[in-house]
Amino acid sequence: MPAAFDRQPTPALPYNRTIVTLDFLGALERTHTCGELRSSNAGQTVTLMGWVNRRRDHGNLIFLDLRDRTGITQVVLDKEAAPVAHAKAEAARPEYVVAVTGRLRVRAAGLENPNMPTGQVELVAAELLLLNDARTPPFSPAEDAIANEEVRLKYRYLDLRRAEMQRNFAVRSRVAMAIRNYLAGQGFLEIETPFMTRSTPEGARDYLVPSRVHPGHFYALPQSPQIFKQLLMVSGFDRYFQIARCFRDEDLRADRQPEFTQIDLEMSFPQMATIFATTEGFLHAAFSAAGISLAAAPFPHITYDQAIARYGIDKPDMRLPEMINFSDLFTPELREKLKIEPSLPILGFTIPKAGLSGTGHKGLSNEIRAGFGETGLDLLDIRRLNNAEEFRPLAEAIGRRIHKNYAEFLGEDPQFYEYKENHLSVVITPKPGTPAFWNYDPQWIYKRAGALRLELARKFADKHQLFEPTGDPARDFRFLWVTDFPMYEWNEEAKTWDAAHHPFTSPHEDDITSGRLVDDKGAVRALAYDVVLNGTELGSGSIRIHRKDVQQQIFASLGMSEAEAHERFGFFLDALEYGTPPHGGIALGLDRIVMILAGANSLREVIAFPKTAKAIDLMVDAPTTVSDIQLRDLSLRIVTRS
Ligand code: ASP
Repeated sequence: MPAAFDRQPTPALPYNRTIVTLDFLGALERTHTCGELRSSNAGQTVTLMGWVNRRRDHGNLIFLDLRDRTGITQVVLDKEAAPVAHAKAEAARPEYVVAVTGRLRVRAAGLENPNMPTGQVELVAAELLLLNDARTPPFSPAEDAIANEEVRLKYRYLDLRRAEMQRNFAVRSRVAMAIRNYLAGQGFLEIETPFMTRSTPEGARDYLVPSRVHPGHFYALPQSPQIFKQLLMVSGFDRYFQIARCFRDEDLRADRQPEFTQIDLEMSFPQMATIFATTEGFLHAAFSAAGISLAAAPFPHITYDQAIARYGIDKPDMRLPEMINFSDLFTPELREKLKIEPSLPILGFTIPKAGLSGTGHKGLSNEIRAGFGETGLDLLDIRRLNNAEEFRPLAEAIGRRIHKNYAEFLGEDPQFYEYKENHLSVVITPKPGTPAFWNYDPQWIYKRAGALRLELARKFADKHQLFEPTGDPARDFRFLWVTDFPMYEWNEEAKTWDAAHHPFTSPHEDDITSGRLVDDKGAVRALAYDVVLNGTELGSGSIRIHRKDVQQQIFASLGMSEAEAHERFGFFLDALEYGTPPHGGIALGLDRIVMILAGANSLREVIAFPKTAKAIDLMVDAPTTVSDIQLRDLSLRIVTRS
């Protein structure tokens, strides 16, 4: 056993500078949890067990706050009434594990604690057992989280003792259970798929597991159960789900984990609407398990192209006003006079309540212009426009459109809505010579404007407060389906068209028959969809290809030779030949859903033993080197790259 795990013999543990004699549990059982006693229990003899949350020593009276995951009960130890128990309580320290038997009483008037559910009562100890001692912890589980997350992760088992974390995992468990129950009720079977498999194509790097028995061969941990769930449809299971672990070796962005959990499902013979209704059904169940009842109405739908045109992003945050298109207000003459490119779009948006003083506005405009760099984009100065006679009608038309956009955002009739607040409005114009395409992308101006809209909305979040919960689920949880994603994505580095989703996604049927797969890849739409909540993608899915000829065509269109397709996916292409039903599915990130429902601000708050942003588990200290013997068994040698 490694030295760190060596246990010293009890009872002589010099923890907390007290030497305590520990008690055995014997046949004692707890009668209640620490969170459930109320004044109606007064007079009962009860036994509680838990951790010492706090200890207050008033000489003849010692108070112990006893904690378990259900709550805290105050225990009183009276030197006169229970001298032995009192003496033990003198030795007790925070995080000691104790058992207390005694009579419950109502607290004296004025001593109740209205902030605690058990605050009306206290347990008068007759007997106290010290079941285990504890070193002084590096931080107190009785307090809120400390700022140093590294220390929290190193001592994760202590961090998880904190009430907030206990709550998060209770939410997580309830949510997962509600999803299971809902899907089981809809006829879904929960089926496990392997962890040790071969590479699956979700576009990330694989985690590999070397095979001892087959030197030089590797399993890959699944990036998702994608191929297996499709094969389960070939097998006739009709409706599959799994709360599945996925592994992706990505360069870690802030809120990513190398392993994460998906609610993964697949159905045979579905229309997209069936998959949407199923997903909405389990989301309703999940939210209601967390005490939030979502409106019954189906989530709105928007196509990818509409999302880009109206929000400049494929995961619109509907808590903010839409983008505004001003292009039609700018006649060719006006464009010429104002030195604006003749045909590209003129877009803008409003950030509510973020109006700035003259100098503040100037500073921000300069910042934005600097951010545009060499793109050719510029900001229109509406105030200056207003000062010039010839442009005043244009300035007024722009003003009316901004006004209308904001009134509509509030759900008001623009005619009657009075625009009183001081908002920040931005109008972006392309200078002559601005390119129509950027990286083959004709929508780049929309995306650029959309990114700026989000950036400024975040910057001025304190002013508009639109990201703050209001208590009304219909406003706080803005769900949305985004459909008709492009099938391909141009990869500028490799100069290839890549699959935008994964290569089993079906294109629209008419994109197959029209030949666009071959000669106009950029225009091919996929039967792929995302479910979006408040500007984050909760999950994505698609109708799959179920015919071998189409699947081969797609592999070929992705530049995969027949030999390569066969080598990577031969078994799957074979399976497609044995009567594969039309099928489709979706996967949603459970961690993210729980994070939202628990009101947590990072995925690490809802994953029991997460990794850091550098993919390290600080508690178990992984990854580590392994012994030469292990390497030899696996026929591996470490080569240090310079
Ligand atoms: N396997 C896909 C993903 O992980 C989801 C799906 O297409 O069902 O994104």
